[in-house]
Amino acid sequence: MHNNVISLVFLFLSLLLISCTNLTHDTNSTQNSNSPHNSAELYLQPEMGHGHMQSPINIRSFKEKESNGHQITLNYKDKINAVENLGSTVQLDFEAGSTISYEEVKYELKQMHFHTPSEHLVDGITFPMEMHIVAKNSPVNKNAIPKYLVIGILFKEGLNNKFLDEFLNKIPKNEHTLTNLEVGTVRLDDLLYRNDLNDVKNFYHYPGSLTTPPYTQTVQWFIFKHVIEASPEQIKTINAIEGNNARHIQGIFSRSVD
Ligand SMILES: [Zn+2]
Repeated sequence: MHNNVISLVFLFLSLLLISCTNLTHDTNSTQNSNSPHNSAELYLQPEMGHGHMQSPINIRSFKEKESNGHQITLNYKDKINAVENLGSTVQLDFEAGSTISYEEVKYELKQMHFHTPSEHLVDGITFPMEMHIVAKNSPVNKNAIPKYLVIGILFKEGLNNKFLDEFLNKIPKNEHTLTNLEVGTVRLDDLLYRNDLNDVKNFYHYPGSLTTPPYTQTVQWFIFKHVIEASPEQIKTINAIEGNNARHIQGIFSRSVD
């Protein structure tokens, strides 16, 4: 008899808990129902079957191997010609004609975009923002899978960032719209030294995937070790547009970071 009462109380509490959990999820999905990257949906999707080379990951800096010594070569014209509000992210576009090479594969710089908070973690630490500089190698055979090289730049809260100031007030208010920029007004050179980008030792490198569908596993990831400062207001401005759009970390499996 006593046991039955306990079971009933337990059942009641479980039901209460389940309904509370559902309420929380409902609230989240109505708040941000237009965004395909809202965090509740990302966590609810099982994401099984994408493979064992997925991104982002938690980078364990103390397990880092010696860099393999292969060279990165930038052939980079600082020509950013548009800023886009994609709803799910804020994106800057490169004019065609800038390249980056790694292990004899040449990639064309396409765009840069932002994640708030960071997608990659370092030693379990999440940063408030991460920028991805995306370069793509389009295969000659149109049916083959393209290869990507993505540079990840982590941001922490601190001083106002000059580079971000160059475009923050030019991001279009409406989703899926674009503002053309006069080339030279937004300069990646105001964020990063080219020499730093040309040295693989400045990066954590590992093979991984795109962090948005179709999660293609042909990405050479280079996460810049030096964390860059931006003011809390600047990070908040970007987060207010794109929401929380970081994919959760994935298993490392047999991969290693060098
Ligand atoms: Zn990204």
